[in-house]
Amino acid sequence: MQVTYWAEHAWLGTHVEPGVAIDVTAEGRIGAVRTDVPAPPPGAVALRGLTLPGLANAHSHAFHRALRGRTQVGSGTFWTWRDVMYGVADRLTPESYHALARATYAEMALAGITCVGEFHYLHHAPGGTRYADPNAMGEALIAAAADAGIRITLLDTAYLSAGFGEPPNRHQLRFSDGTADAWAERAAALKPAGHARIGAAVHSVRAVPAGQLATVADWAKDREAPLHVHLSEQTAENDACLAAHGCTPTRLLADHGVLGPRTSAVHATHLTDDDIALLGGAGSTICMCPTTERDLADGIGPAVRLQQAGSPLSLGSDSHAVIDLLEEARAMELDERLRTRTRGHWTAAALLRAATADGHASLGWDDAGRIAPGALADLTTVALDSVRTAGPDPLHAAETAVFAATGADVRHTVVGGRHVVRDGVHLLVPDVPQALADSIAALRG
Ligand SMILES: [Zn+2]
Repeated sequence: MQVTYWAEHAWLGTHVEPGVAIDVTAEGRIGAVRTDVPAPPPGAVALRGLTLPGLANAHSHAFHRALRGRTQVGSGTFWTWRDVMYGVADRLTPESYHALARATYAEMALAGITCVGEFHYLHHAPGGTRYADPNAMGEALIAAAADAGIRITLLDTAYLSAGFGEPPNRHQLRFSDGTADAWAERAAALKPAGHARIGAAVHSVRAVPAGQLATVADWAKDREAPLHVHLSEQTAENDACLAAHGCTPTRLLADHGVLGPRTSAVHATHLTDDDIALLGGAGSTICMCPTTERDLADGIGPAVRLQQAGSPLSLGSDSHAVIDLLEEARAMELDERLRTRTRGHWTAAALLRAATADGHASLGWDDAGRIAPGALADLTTVALDSVRTAGPDPLHAAETAVFAATGADVRHTVVGGRHVVRDGVHLLVPDVPQALADSIAALRG
């Protein structure tokens, strides 16, 4: 599918360049990037607005999309929210999960997301019974991403216990393989595809006994696969870990070989100075999910200090309270402003790197997230003539995109050279709002 896209403006990693032609090879990679091209060359597809590398949503639980709106009534905590979430998890089948994930991933494509990291632990039928195909749920997610036209890293998640020394509760039986060895055997049967790569996850130190952490870490290491883990989102996890093991969750992960440059710690909200040094020293990525962290009243993680210690940052929409990577990017900066009462912790370029190259790297797609020869031809174009974005000098288009645009301003999404969203319309899923409404209504029973 050789094609040339012409970007009216393109963000090339450091600055915005007007008039950029992007040649795509038959393999869906960028063949050449030509600057100083003032008008679309003959036959080229024009992308008007600011074209960015495709956005990576580094942390997703697709089924949480069914909770939108429902969990905003009344008071509560992360833990009361979790009870409602388990009610949805109880109802899903491979068929209904495929429909919900297809619609959710289509919403992501409309918001300019070209790759999702799906942190997947809903493995088995209610009660923990294996499906005839033990990976039926994971395969439904991989198929859903293909149907929605985006890439996926399926982070198959080990989830074995309710807490330190506690067996899974009745909801969590669906999540558990019993042991990390059984998890490893099942996960090994998952097959990558052109649009799909396979990674591993430890749900949390609550959900995988310390003695079994190394099994998951070794599985990922043997495959050079990404390894993700929820870390210290709640102080209750830290307190329970301290009581059970006499150390912080970060220290426990470090001592069992879980940290390293292919590891991403998700949230990392409540850390000690030693935790920050351990994560940064290991070069582990930190996936911040600011819209979820504020929605669930988690707190504000020390993203600046983690990055200074050596951790790259990525971004995820996690619980899908909203799906908008531009909002995640600016929220990281704006949360820090509220905390410190100073501005300018990250430039727009640094925030865009988290949303693109560093996010892709955390999902095992080191060959995506850049507009450069050889990279996968994944592109996202943000309108500069919408009611939110019209006016500023195009020289400041990156700042406008990060600090004023929303997912609704995404005009084009290109994945592997293929136009998936064109002029704001999803070309593969004809009516995304209806697909969301239908798949969520089906779960109400
Ligand atoms: Zn999560």
